[in-house]
Amino acid sequence: MYRTGFGYDLHRLEKGRKLVLGGVEVPGREGLAGHSDGDCLTHAVIDALLGAAGEADIGRHFPDTDPRWKGARSVELLAIVMENLRLAGWRVENVDSVVVAEKPLLAPHIPAMKQALAPVLGVGPEALGIKAKTNEGLGLIGKGRAIACWASALLSRRA
Ligand code: MG
Repeated sequence: MYRTGFGYDLHRLEKGRKLVLGGVEVPGREGLAGHSDGDCLTHAVIDALLGAAGEADIGRHFPDTDPRWKGARSVELLAIVMENLRLAGWRVENVDSVVVAEKPLLAPHIPAMKQALAPVLGVGPEALGIKAKTNEGLGLIGKGRAIACWASALLSRRA
């Protein structure tokens, strides 16, 4: 049995925060605001996985009102989700994603993001797509005020 899932997330950029995307710290002047480390790529991937498994979204699993998740590394949240999916018999076939950020240039960091996320997903790097785009200077993403991410996931389970 196969199930697809789709996830989206957007976080505001703020001065004085570390920029963490796909489990990797990317050097830059601003980072993503959030209760956790603000890693909106990992959050979009989590929502794609949860959606494919028919589960409630990331906010229901890790509420931003819960002090347990304050400053949490999103890769650790992903690991918790993956453990629950495995217990339910799911495995990841592949994940694909798009990060839309005007700056900094993300392409050089994509191999490290794959290295950080693929083992947690239990897939090889070839089964994890990460594509970086700009917003052509348009809108709040184009003005560098936020970063948005989309992700899709394909899960399989014995029927
Ligand atoms: Mg988020």
